[in-house]
Amino acid sequence: MKFSKNSKCPCGSGKKYKECCYKWHKISKAPNALLLMKSRYSAYALGNADYIIKTTHPDSPHYEKDIKAWKNSIKNFSESEFKKLEIVEYKNEKKRAFVKFKAYIDDFVMEEESLFVKEDKWYYIKGV
Ligand SMILES: [Zn+2]
Repeated sequence: MKFSKNSKCPCGSGKKYKECCYKWHKISKAPNALLLMKSRYSAYALGNADYIIKTTHPDSPHYEKDIKAWKNSIKNFSESEFKKLEIVEYKNEKKRAFVKFKAYIDDFVMEEESLFVKEDKWYYIKGV
């Protein structure tokens, strides 16, 4: 079945995509780090490279200068099966936040505590 805006959101909220991460994907930002984390997972699952790029801080070690190559590697990664996202912990401060998560992708579990900062909007920095 083809994915549509009425499909269940990949982030696992149980909501339809159009009522969930789509809201952040279309404006390229999320209101807090937790929703940014979830919507970035959904963006990876859906191959939405632009969202990943626009929500990665330009000073992040993961920010790639070669946007075209970066887009390709995001698209390649999106071919994986994004099975489940589990939020383990969320620590929110005024200008930064930490989200510890487990992402079940293909046959592995990716665990990270991600650092996010708030400037004009929330950005992903890196795993800590
Ligand atoms: Zn979602």
